[in-house]
Amino acid sequence: MADTTPGFDTLQIHAGARPDPATGARQVPIYQTTAYVFRDADHAAALFNLQEVGYIYSRLTNPTVAALQERMAALEGGAGAVCCSSGHGAQIMALFPLMGPGLNVVASNRLYGGTVTQFSHTIRRFGWSAKFVDFDDLDAVEAAIDDNTRAVFCESIANPGGYITDLDAISAISDRAGVPLIVDNTTATPYLCRPIEHGATLVVHSLTKYLTGNGTVTGGAVIDSGKFDWSNGKFPAMSDPEPAYHGLKFHETFGPLAFTFNSIAIGLRDLGMTLNPQAAHYTLMGIETLSLRMERHCANAVKVADWLERDPRVAYVTYAGLPSSPYYPRMASICPKGASSLFTFALKDGYGACVKLIDSVNLFSHVANLGDTRSLIIHSASTTHRQLTEAQQIAAGAGPDVVRLSIGLEDADDIIADLAQALDTACG
Ligand SMILES: *Cc1c(COP(=O)(O)O)cnc(C)c1O
Repeated sequence: MADTTPGFDTLQIHAGARPDPATGARQVPIYQTTAYVFRDADHAAALFNLQEVGYIYSRLTNPTVAALQERMAALEGGAGAVCCSSGHGAQIMALFPLMGPGLNVVASNRLYGGTVTQFSHTIRRFGWSAKFVDFDDLDAVEAAIDDNTRAVFCESIANPGGYITDLDAISAISDRAGVPLIVDNTTATPYLCRPIEHGATLVVHSLTKYLTGNGTVTGGAVIDSGKFDWSNGKFPAMSDPEPAYHGLKFHETFGPLAFTFNSIAIGLRDLGMTLNPQAAHYTLMGIETLSLRMERHCANAVKVADWLERDPRVAYVTYAGLPSSPYYPRMASICPKGASSLFTFALKDGYGACVKLIDSVNLFSHVANLGDTRSLIIHSASTTHRQLTEAQQIAAGAGPDVVRLSIGLEDADDIIADLAQALDTACG
């Protein structure tokens, strides 16, 4: 039988969207409403009992947000998805049904700085903890997993050091241990990498970055593969009777949609980190051009990284899309269409030259963001990683001589010209 699954470019425009049943509106409307009128008392009761799927209150579900959830699930090849108010919110939402006091997550030591902080300090307030491991050392990952481990967490393309995770090898380890693999796919987007095809259980996203794509929205999403056996004895919130729903067992009742229903019915209901419908609308519009934008982001990043690498004032460039990168060979299996547009480079003249470079750029914007249409620049050591010791900065790939770039969609020649004049000013 012929494969009738639509291609990525078709899904990014059509998945989750259909002409509005009330008006025929072609674009997904912004359903700016808090509540939804019940047909009658029986209908209301069925909705509250999760016996019927429908809309009650926008902290839980909203039609604009639902369209985005369906699109994210389709693009990642998952069974279901839940959107939330930020990427960091998505990480808590992913861990919440799995964790409990005394339990831990085994995490890669190459993560977005904010995630390192969230996992090192804030989750301890819930009694959870993280063990950070080098995910290139597979024996160390396996050894770090203990009886109290409930998740393994990494980024597909890690922010910002030009690192690609061997997801197939890591998911083989998490499978053997009977714990889910959670992959933060923010930097790659589902256009460049589909972690579920490499064994991931859950995929988390910051919608804030490439998915919306133009620096207008803060949002997050968790996509569930629908393939994990939550009844293996380690995940009572998914397998045992839920007292707040008359003893409902999520895994038994909802099967591959257990995580998604749990995240909406318990996570959004009680943690309340809901995405608003206007943000969902902007993100839906951004995703319509995701593949086109990611192709250009990658092509521009290769040109700029290659140019920087050949400049004698540059000590090194860490971009997995350059053949000089130790992670370049992993692109073929994990992200064959490209390595995204986020990378760092170091200046031989050190800290002072980096600060001067940042102050000399014109086209680049000096901001703490990434994945925008605009090219962005930041000197991590004097900003996002300022509170760390120099040793910690170096370990995080954010040493005093390192500058981070997020390459935008402008003409590559103009991006390079701006860096060229700024390098002349900063390094002479
Ligand atoms: C930005 C980012 C986050 C956090 O997302 P927010 O939307 O800012 O909360 C998490 N992971 C990665 C890789 C990111 O780039």
